[in-house]
Amino acid sequence: MIKQRLFTPGPTPVPEETLLELARPVTYHRTAEQRQILTEVMENLQYVFQTKNPVLVLTASGTGGMEACVSNTIAPGQKAILLCAGRWGERWRGILKAFGTNLISIDAEYGKAIPPEQLEKALKEHPDTVAVFTTLNETSTGVALDIESYGKLVAATPALLAVDAISGLGAMECRTDDWKIDLCVTGSQKALMMPPGLAFVTASEKAWQRMETPANRSFYFDLKRYKAKLNEPDTPFTPANTLIKAQRISLAKIKAEGIEKVWARHLLLGKATRAAIQAMGLSLFAERPSNALTVITVPAGIDGNAVLSKMEKNYGYKLANGQDNLKGKIWRLSHMGWCDPFDVIGAISALELVLTDSGFPLTSGAGVAAFQKVIAGKQ
Ligand SMILES: *Cc1c(COP(=O)(O)O)cnc(C)c1O
Repeated sequence: MIKQRLFTPGPTPVPEETLLELARPVTYHRTAEQRQILTEVMENLQYVFQTKNPVLVLTASGTGGMEACVSNTIAPGQKAILLCAGRWGERWRGILKAFGTNLISIDAEYGKAIPPEQLEKALKEHPDTVAVFTTLNETSTGVALDIESYGKLVAATPALLAVDAISGLGAMECRTDDWKIDLCVTGSQKALMMPPGLAFVTASEKAWQRMETPANRSFYFDLKRYKAKLNEPDTPFTPANTLIKAQRISLAKIKAEGIEKVWARHLLLGKATRAAIQAMGLSLFAERPSNALTVITVPAGIDGNAVLSKMEKNYGYKLANGQDNLKGKIWRLSHMGWCDPFDVIGAISALELVLTDSGFPLTSGAGVAAFQKVIAGKQ
């Protein structure tokens, strides 16, 4: 018997209490009870986003929330700057193109971050920019982008800063208001410890003002419709109310732990995992590594795909492969959400076994020892 263990950067494991809530009978959605649940969920989302502005609940995957940011704020032909450091930057590009945006693109080589100076220069060259799009944690490469610095630059201009925080929010520090993020999006299935199906979007005063000029080009994702229902509170369309009830349980867990402690736990997991990987003689793919996942470069002479199959078949550990051109070249090990050191140390141990079996020279236990050292140093 081998237990299946999910270490992909979305979906991620879900706590038992949340799974139990998901097993309960379906209920009607326009009730006082549901309103009370939605109120609590939105309040706790404000806490996780670190914002005073309302957080809207959309029934969609994260991409739906990203599309809402574009379709509500930019008219065709208007200019936007895209800071693209991987596949999820490319997702912004796809949406922006579909909505006819005039795109100025700053592209980082995969694995690299984007220095704020590049954005500063682009903003100077393009004073007619109406929005800047970027990613908190580029899940395809494991790179964390410097949102705080971007926020300072964009806040000094009329442009909006839109951040895809889908895999970062709830894992790494993200202060929506203090960092001057105008549009911040996340999804339920990454660090918020839920199955896929919900997207959450918050907009600053500056962004809501922009939405007063009728740029909106969507119906289902018309954010003003969601805002108009906030007083009840309700949603304009039938929400995935079963998921909202379950999200309440997972958010309560985050609230009880405290968001700063949640960030600290992820920082510790990130540090310990990076130490383990380096102690095993492997190298990290990301230049500015995020604490939500660790991305490992497949060493020369090792079949990256075969290692992942063995991890799953022999030991039950499901890690993620690289996407597109990076398939077979990197391994992505998630430690976000419902995850503690003794989940991850198992994955490190299994990776040591598989690598040794694959002929990679490695001292047995080197990664595990390095991991333990970081954890012990903390206590
Ligand atoms: C997972 C992910 C997405 C995609 O979200 P969906 O829920 O699949 O639509 C977008 N951006 C980032 C950074 C992600 O990690």
